[in-house]
Amino acid sequence: MGIDIKLILDEYKRLETTKKPNTISDKYVQMPEGNPSALLIRLLPAADGSSLPFFATRIHKINNRNYHCPCEFINGKYFGNCPICHVVKGLYNKMNGLSKEEAEPFREEASKLKATQKFYWNAVVREMKDAEGKTLYNSGPRIFSCGKQLQSRMLRLWGGDSSTGLEPLGDVTDLETGYDLRLVKRITQGYGNFSYPSYLESDFVKKPSKAGKADEVERWMESLWDLKAERVVKPFGELELQVKIYKGEVTDPELAFPGETIQQQPKQEEVVNSKPAPLTMSEDDSEGEEWLTKIKNL
Ligand SMILES: [Zn+2]
Repeated sequence: MGIDIKLILDEYKRLETTKKPNTISDKYVQMPEGNPSALLIRLLPAADGSSLPFFATRIHKINNRNYHCPCEFINGKYFGNCPICHVVKGLYNKMNGLSKEEAEPFREEASKLKATQKFYWNAVVREMKDAEGKTLYNSGPRIFSCGKQLQSRMLRLWGGDSSTGLEPLGDVTDLETGYDLRLVKRITQGYGNFSYPSYLESDFVKKPSKAGKADEVERWMESLWDLKAERVVKPFGELELQVKIYKGEVTDPELAFPGETIQQQPKQEEVVNSKPAPLTMSEDDSEGEEWLTKIKNL
């Protein structure tokens, strides 16, 4: 007997044609392939026009996964209880009193694990190719996510810098008199064999312009992404489990073979009962820099 080949072909066709709505490629600004690569976008203002048009979060990379750090920024410092920040703090503590060479492995591990800042904006991509190679114009709103380096550069261009005499551009997101942003990504050789994408060549275009036609702008502003919703903080137990996987104390449930014993994620009550000591973290980046200064002065 066997299965009718037509059923198999129908199933194949269904797999090929079913497309999930709102896939990642519809939601985020993605840089085109190539090195260097460039993309022209327009950052959009906040819906109420007066709030900051971006949202900041901090992300840990651990076991090849990304987690939002649960610590909150209050009066210039991060407060909270984060198992991954605890590991980072422990690594910094281990460096105390060590020579630069001795401390290097701890420094390297800490810099990989520590939370890095990410900033989300609403943006429109002026011109891009979709997955099928079709050219899209003014596609958005999409979420544009950038790191601290580019964020700081954009804010400096926006607000100017009196220490270097840089004139402010003013509100780059203004729908009438704002500026398009040309993103440039270039893979740059860093410390050792480490290479990373640098966005330092990115710049606002020279002339101010309207964001778009009235009907386009109206549609964009009505469908801005809720940027805060991007920060989904996972329960303490899940972060703790990731630390245990990282330390090799438990097997990653997603990598375990059938029959292998794995530690399940602790239930919420267990998390509450374990009452981990509260952690006060200073701003991660400055902590790293402070430490570097200490090392340089040795
Ligand atoms: Zn953290």
